[in-house]
Amino acid sequence: MPQQILIVEDEPNTAEMLASYFQIQGYEVTVCGWGKEALDFVQHTLPDLIILDIRLPDIDGYEICRRLRSHRRTSQVPILFLTEKRERIDRLAGLELGAVDYVTKPFDIQELRLRVRNVLRRAQMQSVMHPITELPFASLVEDHLNQLLGEKGWAMTALAIDGLEAFADAYGFVARDDVLRAVALIVRHVAEEEGGKETFVGQLDDATFFAVTGPQEAGRIQERLTTRLQEALALFYPREDWEAMQKAKKTSIPRLSVRMGTLSAGSYPSAGKLRESVYRSLRPVI
Ligand code: CA
Repeated sequence: MPQQILIVEDEPNTAEMLASYFQIQGYEVTVCGWGKEALDFVQHTLPDLIILDIRLPDIDGYEICRRLRSHRRTSQVPILFLTEKRERIDRLAGLELGAVDYVTKPFDIQELRLRVRNVLRRAQMQSVMHPITELPFASLVEDHLNQLLGEKGWAMTALAIDGLEAFADAYGFVARDDVLRAVALIVRHVAEEEGGKETFVGQLDDATFFAVTGPQEAGRIQERLTTRLQEALALFYPREDWEAMQKAKKTSIPRLSVRMGTLSAGSYPSAGKLRESVYRSLRPVI
């Protein structure tokens, strides 16, 4: 699939030149001449990169960037600003918008091409890590799983946290993300302490973690993970809520629970469906 670039530029000549240049380079290009149009566009199509002019007829580039960053879905899109010489770059830095890069007009198209390539490469590296926990994720995990299929003597301990959505409704996204980061840290520590340097820790989805080790370590890892998570759970809640949960079986406080499972090269049933087998192996432990 070609990478998608959204060009937000109101000067028709520049927009046209950029569009045809990047189309020839093999990118899929969309042009928006208005800020509002660009914000509408990203609602249904998330580009791999946005080339964003600062001076637009309606909403300026800074504001567009701010709005993109403030929404979860668009917060990670790389942005390359087109700035005028007289505009002060420190204004960009001051905004702390995580803007990826900028090019000053009049720009050299070769320079712009290199910037675009670098930004996209950097973003690609980041996209194989989970944005919240920074554990291997997505294609990096798929590659590793596929490689495992051909090997002997591995075990995979998987762990899923349930109830996160209700938890986020009650305590907010920040609290939920803290839970995910804490769980990621626990999985990583336990797996590395027990499994040594060869251990591979990653995420299958937002709430499912796993560690691949040798088959001997899996039992011990599951045991220790259960203990550590039981201890950690209390810290995820406000104290009075946690105490209320301990006293009463039925409260309106959203409960987080944990499922775990282990697969090994020997017990792993069907070829090619490792991911599904992992999900099926999960049983409630907390
Ligand atoms: Ca302009």
